[in-house]
Amino acid sequence: MTEANAVSSEAGGVTEACRVKLARVRALLVDLEGTVRFGGTPIPGAAEALNRLRAAGYSLCFTTNIDSMTAKDICRGLTDIGVQADPAEIFTPVAALRHFMARNPERSWLFLLSKDVQSGFAALQGAAQAADFVVVGDFRDEFSYERINSAYRQLMNGARLVALQPQPFFMGPDGYYLDTGAIVHMLEWASGKTAIVLGKPSPDYYLTALEGLGLRPGEALAIGDDVGTDIKGAAAAGCPSVLVRTGKFDAGKVAASAAQPDVIVNSLAEVPEVLAACRM
Ligand SMILES: [Mg+2]
Repeated sequence: MTEANAVSSEAGGVTEACRVKLARVRALLVDLEGTVRFGGTPIPGAAEALNRLRAAGYSLCFTTNIDSMTAKDICRGLTDIGVQADPAEIFTPVAALRHFMARNPERSWLFLLSKDVQSGFAALQGAAQAADFVVVGDFRDEFSYERINSAYRQLMNGARLVALQPQPFFMGPDGYYLDTGAIVHMLEWASGKTAIVLGKPSPDYYLTALEGLGLRPGEALAIGDDVGTDIKGAAAAGCPSVLVRTGKFDAGKVAASAAQPDVIVNSLAEVPEVLAACRM
């Protein structure tokens, strides 16, 4: 499906096939940056839409690639812009890391993480000279050549590289910021290794979030602004998806993407209407 034939709510509703698909949806996997807010500013109508969807009985899981903050702090940021949320409803690459570590017990870890996130893993940081895994997140508050180079040496010594998420940049209130993916790419390039990606677009990211909700892929709808992470990951996990035309939305990237959303809307504010039409 291309953008031209993806169905938007303004195009007069959804197709019958899409309606049947979305009628099975019981939970929403909602991206944050670019979908609920962008560059520090709330997307108009997004908070109201989420509160309406919750009132209509949908479970909400905020599936964000934010990897520099704790779930509690992300939740506080949502409450500040009028979105009801509980830390248990926030699913980040850091949560995915905990699942990954549980599947790889008794290994030695080297973390490049922000101070806040790292504090949750302090007891697990390997003291050994040889790490089995080097984990890279957004650690711009702890960034130094020495730390990156110590990670690089572990990689050259046999450690595997793990990326919390692969995005090269994010938009802050004052413009572009280098993101985790840029640092990961540098380490991949220098070491010749390919990182294991834990956040979007990894299908395991969405599948692990679904496991927590006790739902199957067809029962959860992913909503996001980035076709390369939100929509690609949802498609790989088997979830239907909605692309919003806010934040990082790029019509050229949508046209070039193999993974396509089921619906494209102007913003999250239109999603309650689309889902209500599917329930009729
Ligand atoms: Mg986004």
